Amino acid sequence: MKAARDAGRASSLAAWREARRIAGLHPTQQKSHPSAVPADPSKLSHVTTYGTLPDFYIDRPFICRRCGKHEIWKARDQKWYYEEAKAHIDAIAVECHECRTRND
Ligand SMILES: [Zn+2]
Repeated sequence: MKAARDAGRASSLAAWREARRIAGLHPTQQKSHPSAVPADPSKLSHVTTYGTLPDFYIDRPFICRRCGKHEIWKARDQKWYYEEAKAHIDAIAVECHECRTRND
C-alpha cells in the first residue's frame, strides 16, 4: 500500500462539507460529536476576555483567503494553538497550511 501523500491536512470536499455540517449543529450536539476535542481551561488562563472560554474544539472548515483552497482547521490543531501556543482566542485560521508556511 502506498502511503497517503499528505499528512492529513489536505481534505476532500466531502470531508469539508461534513465539517461544515457539524459546524452548523447546535453546540450541545457538537460537544458530543466524536470529532469534538475537550478544552482544558487550566491551559487557557491567558484568555482574559470574559465569556469566551471554549468548552471544546470542533473542526472548522474554511476557504483559504489567499489561494481559495478548501481546508479544515482540525479541532486538535486548535487545541494546540490556543492551549500550547497561547494564541489569542479570537485568532482563527484564514489561510491554508501551504500558504501559511509559504509566508516570509
Ligand atoms: Zn492557501
